[in-house]
Amino acid sequence: MMRLVDHGIDDRLFRNAMGSFATGVTVITTENAEEVHGMTANAFMSVSLKPKLIAISIGENARMHQHIKEAKQFAVNILSSDQLTESKQFSGQLNLESEFTFLNYKGLPTLEESLAVVTCELHSDYVVGDHTIFIGHVTGVKLQQKDPLVFSKGKYRELKELEDLKE
Ligand code: FAD
Repeated sequence: MMRLVDHGIDDRLFRNAMGSFATGVTVITTENAEEVHGMTANAFMSVSLKPKLIAISIGENARMHQHIKEAKQFAVNILSSDQLTESKQFSGQLNLESEFTFLNYKGLPTLEESLAVVTCELHSDYVVGDHTIFIGHVTGVKLQQKDPLVFSKGKYRELKELEDLKE
């Protein structure tokens, strides 16, 4: 792998600047040996329409990294504004192991109350610095009429609609 030069930019400044980019919140779910694993992630994007591909970025120390490599499939649960508990649970900020039920959709465990669910087969993966970008080939999509959970500057937020500009 090509070695990249670090340009001496302060880590905290970089994190704060990246954290000011407001995102939705997802929980990535997969299953190995009948055990369900979930992980909160906001590094998610749509990549291609034909074929339908999406991308997620997972830190090298996250257990989900190995789970996806083994299962070769995963689901992206896009959280609604009433799923703050799920986001905290699957990022290790809560410990409510027994309280979660998963709905099987396209052979993967999913969170039923999600705003949207995208199931994927693992298409490819790329080690980039201290993260791996996993590309998923979409096998199923479900969508509900709900508002998204929003994350910005280290805080959970709700979406507020602005009045459009008048001509
Ligand atoms: P674990 O530490 O094993 O699991 C995470 C948590 O989920 C644990 O508390 C575990 O008890 C719980 N859990 C797992 N499976 C189940 C289950 N079946 N039932 C109940 N609970 C379960 N990290 C990234 O790499 N990429 C990102 O894009 C990213 N985005 C984030 C966005 C937000 C808003 C937040 C808050 C965190 C984000 N993180 C991201 C950090 C990541 O969520 C945490 O580092 C996480 O703890 C790593 O999980 P893990 O795979 O190591 O699994």
